Amino acid sequence: MGTRRTKINLAKHAGFCFGVKRAIKIAQEVAKSRYKIEMLHEIVHNEKVVKDIEELGLKKVKRLRKGKNKALLIQAHGMPRNIIKKAKDSDYKIIDATCPMVYEIHKTAISMEKEGRKIIIIGDKNHIEVKGIAGNIKSRPLIVESGKDIPLNKIKKIQKGAVVVQSTQNVQKVENIIKVLKKNIRDLKVFNTICAITRKKQREIQTMPLDNDIMIIVGSKKSANTKRLYEISRSLNKRTYWVESPKDLKKEWLKEASNIGVTSGASTPDYLTQNVIGRIKELTN
Ligand code: SF4
Repeated sequence: MGTRRTKINLAKHAGFCFGVKRAIKIAQEVAKSRYKIEMLHEIVHNEKVVKDIEELGLKKVKRLRKGKNKALLIQAHGMPRNIIKKAKDSDYKIIDATCPMVYEIHKTAISMEKEGRKIIIIGDKNHIEVKGIAGNIKSRPLIVESGKDIPLNKIKKIQKGAVVVQSTQNVQKVENIIKVLKKNIRDLKVFNTICAITRKKQREIQTMPLDNDIMIIVGSKKSANTKRLYEISRSLNKRTYWVESPKDLKKEWLKEASNIGVTSGASTPDYLTQNVIGRIKELTN
């Protein structure tokens, strides 16, 4: 520690994904308009970003209410169609920041449903992206959350099926589920819609903990994907630490580390990661 050899390696794909960056940019632009902008969900699961957005004048609400000059911001992960309809019926202007790749998942599910296929979504039931996919088709999809809870009795009854996947799912987990589905459904079309950015992030977290002496993961304790990064990293390198801000860093962690890997969850703003890197430099000098 404190030697000139200490190197900080920042993950290439750390932080916000393309879809979230784009949604935040749209939010910042519309904040300047004459509309009172409301959101039904946090734009990302990070308290600091939510606060920054609220300071621009965008408000998170629980329910839609009629009013003048109101607009609803649809965040990157999309939204069920009935909610958009309800907003329109309540005179909201719709500002759609759905990630184009999530929009593609909706299109795939809609067209497969038109082919008469039962839609199977691999993803987290309670995540807004999964609700958004389910809420953009007419029939009720089957949602598979993990390899442990595949409802085989229901699966075996499906004659024609189509699989789509939540964009941020774990590649390995999804491949295992798909194997089981293929075995049990004769006519199955599979669209593994985990996005390219998620795949790159997952590859990175498989190698970085092995290439570095310690790993620092930056992100909110509320963020599920930051937790996933932390767990993968920790399983590969015991010297993995999870910080929410620079003040969480401890000098003793950094002892005798020549290479320090830094990455952050998909909901962590770049400036926070940079602040953590700044503090690591101070502590190792
Ligand atoms: S599809 Fe990929 S880029 Fe788009 S919101 Fe999901 S994770 Fe982000």
